[in-house]
Amino acid sequence: MKEVNTDNHEPHKPWAINLQNVQFRYGKSGAENALNIPLWQVARGERVFLHGDSGSGKTTLLNLLSGVLTPTQGTIELLEQPFSTLSARRRDTFRAHHIGVVFQQFNLVPYLSVLKNIQLANHFAAKRDKDIVASANAMLAKLNLPSDVLHKPANALSVGQQQRVAIARALINQPELLLVDEPTSALDASARDAFMTILLEMCESVEASLIFVSHDMSLKEFFNSRIDMSSLNKPFEGAAC
Ligand code: ADP
Ligand code: MG
Repeated sequence: MKEVNTDNHEPHKPWAINLQNVQFRYGKSGAENALNIPLWQVARGERVFLHGDSGSGKTTLLNLLSGVLTPTQGTIELLEQPFSTLSARRRDTFRAHHIGVVFQQFNLVPYLSVLKNIQLANHFAAKRDKDIVASANAMLAKLNLPSDVLHKPANALSVGQQQRVAIARALINQPELLLVDEPTSALDASARDAFMTILLEMCESVEASLIFVSHDMSLKEFFNSRIDMSSLNKPFEGAAC
């Protein structure tokens, strides 16, 4: 008899993202302003560069992945757990526990100190950090930010510094999934490269899966996986009814 591996089924590949038959429309408008993604799966630990023209739906897709929007049809599972079918409250909890987000505008609370901004993210986490000041300081040091910025209001920092605080805030809870939307658009080339290096190092240190959105193709070299919105987002069939 042929020697058979008793464990002969394919090992199950853990997904960070498993998106099936997802459709989304803003309001009741036609097929434009819409996403139609039959299937998209991203393995855990992958670092994906998601690119596409302006208006191609990149931010809409990230908003679906962070639960800011929910699909009109289809399902999104994250980290092998249901996500889009959760109630709004449970989706918020899931996001706070498992997902880090860096939006285009960073979304720091401008009048709060850097420390308070980071603390706020940790407040909703599954694991409260007992020594958040030390953790925030350690993270800022890794991000090459001087520790005196910790007590400055977020709006007193330069754009480049705010970006790094946004990364610190997104990573403080050691999320399994990090979603980043066009964070480099305001940076010159050398600041941009420094930012990318830091982001990827930090991601690696917490073993986060990363979805990084940009229309800037020169960034693609930083990633092990690339996908174009036009290959994900299919035209709607039979737009009638
Ligand atoms: P990208 O991030 O790739 O530039 P977006 O996801 O922001 O693209 O936009 C995709 C499409 O959805 C565009 O046609 C845009 O005008 C439209 N859109 C984005 N946000 C809204 C909204 N809040 N209401 C209606 N349409 C929107
Ligand atoms: Mg966008």
